[in-house]
Amino acid sequence: MIDFHIRTGHPAGPIVEAALERSVTAGQMRPAPSGPGDAAIAVFVEPASGDAETIGRIAAGGGKVLVLGRPEGEVAARCGLRDVKALPADWADAARCAPAPLRGTSRSAASVRWLAHPLAAHSPFETRPFLRFDYADEWNNLGYGRITADGGQWSIACGATADGATVLAMAEASGCEPVPMVTLFEPGAGSVLWWNRAVGPVDSAEWAVVEAFLADWRHEDRPCVPVVREVPFGHDCAITMRLDCDEDIASARPLFELYRERGLPFSVAIKTEQEDRPDHIELLHEILAEDGAVLSHSVTHAPRWGGSAEACLREARGSVEWLEQRVEGLKVRHAVSPFHQNPPYVPAALAEAGLEGFVGGIVANDPEALLARGGRLPGDASGVVSHSQQCMLHGDCVLEEGDRLAVTKAAFRAATASGALFGFLDHPFSPRYDYGWGSEAHRLDVHAEFLDFIAQETEGGAVLWLNEDQVLDWIGAKARLRVTLQDGRIVAEGADRAAWPFAIRWRGRTEALPARGEG
Ligand SMILES: [Zn+2]
Repeated sequence: MIDFHIRTGHPAGPIVEAALERSVTAGQMRPAPSGPGDAAIAVFVEPASGDAETIGRIAAGGGKVLVLGRPEGEVAARCGLRDVKALPADWADAARCAPAPLRGTSRSAASVRWLAHPLAAHSPFETRPFLRFDYADEWNNLGYGRITADGGQWSIACGATADGATVLAMAEASGCEPVPMVTLFEPGAGSVLWWNRAVGPVDSAEWAVVEAFLADWRHEDRPCVPVVREVPFGHDCAITMRLDCDEDIASARPLFELYRERGLPFSVAIKTEQEDRPDHIELLHEILAEDGAVLSHSVTHAPRWGGSAEACLREARGSVEWLEQRVEGLKVRHAVSPFHQNPPYVPAALAEAGLEGFVGGIVANDPEALLARGGRLPGDASGVVSHSQQCMLHGDCVLEEGDRLAVTKAAFRAATASGALFGFLDHPFSPRYDYGWGSEAHRLDVHAEFLDFIAQETEGGAVLWLNEDQVLDWIGAKARLRVTLQDGRIVAEGADRAAWPFAIRWRGRTEALPARGEG
């Protein structure tokens, strides 16, 4: 059980809570008790000085504490830190990032560098800039969000000096004094992991470090909580792909045929305000016949789903009706958010339209929808789930220099190494725009090269290719799963509602989750 301590009203609270719930399930989280009765594992978001005693007591008792954000007053010493101070102003510039040039990338001067340490080794990145782009100032294909330096919850929180703690990662930028980003303090029986950001790494594949700390770290002499993997049991990795059909659905046919030849499922998300042509609908029937999926991508592709809950409902309902009237037997249950934009009214409005989940999350906007694991949205009670799939395979992102697919390959490796279900996307051509591909032949050649790379990387391993409905159904089942520990045994409710067994990681082992009631 994890006690979740949060300063009342802190905006990072619901975000961290949702991220933790996506990893350990709601069954293992409870609000912090006001009196004694501490759990052996606790998470503190921006703890006040008065929390120092509780942190010290849990650590001295052999427990684990995750501290996120600025450690006030006496809390600093409990984290093995001193000289906590406001972040110097020069970090604000270092955290900025120019838009990427076409077929190139851009990155901020500020970066996080991971050091050699068994816990740090769970980060899939050795270094990562605070911010980088693969396309304009919209996309980062490598699977991490944006560390700002503006003092908000997404910002690096403070300056500090390690005083007893081991530094696992440093924040660095030329011209700025380096600052510890992640530290581990283990002066006695317990462990205190500190992250210099109020939301921790919720939006990054570095979340794998938090999962490792909770599930496995020093399992021979520290408490651990079971963590549910995003990849189903028995598989080394899980992959999905999709085309967001903003225009001209039928032009996706050559790419569909490439995936069909290789026996891989193909998914499309449809903006339905399109020319009503029989060849569009014929392709959708064929995609479904080959175990693919057809999702909503709204009616008009309006920014922010139309700007209000009412507009979002109209966009979702209208697109679902359009598709279901034309495609025999289709029940639309999922969507891809236009521009990956997800204002807070979106989940409830989609639920009202009968949808169960959506793909969203991009570095450009709505960071709370860009979380490392799929699941329920922060602060949302609609039951709708979301999964971030931000690796865009476009002609505009095929690199001019070196290995043309270097970033796309790195994105796949980082997702796999961090246990994320990997999703990538492209768009069909239109008379208006070809997304930098230049020709269908070039596009097919690049997709084939990437599929060859995945086949090579995973040779001999167990790879699970899924369509988008299967992905969001799986994420939904994971969100409804409740895992608890009872007398030292894992007990799960809802494990039988998923298409595959869940993999559960606990105390250095990964096992299939026992079905309901079994131990
Ligand atoms: Zn789109």
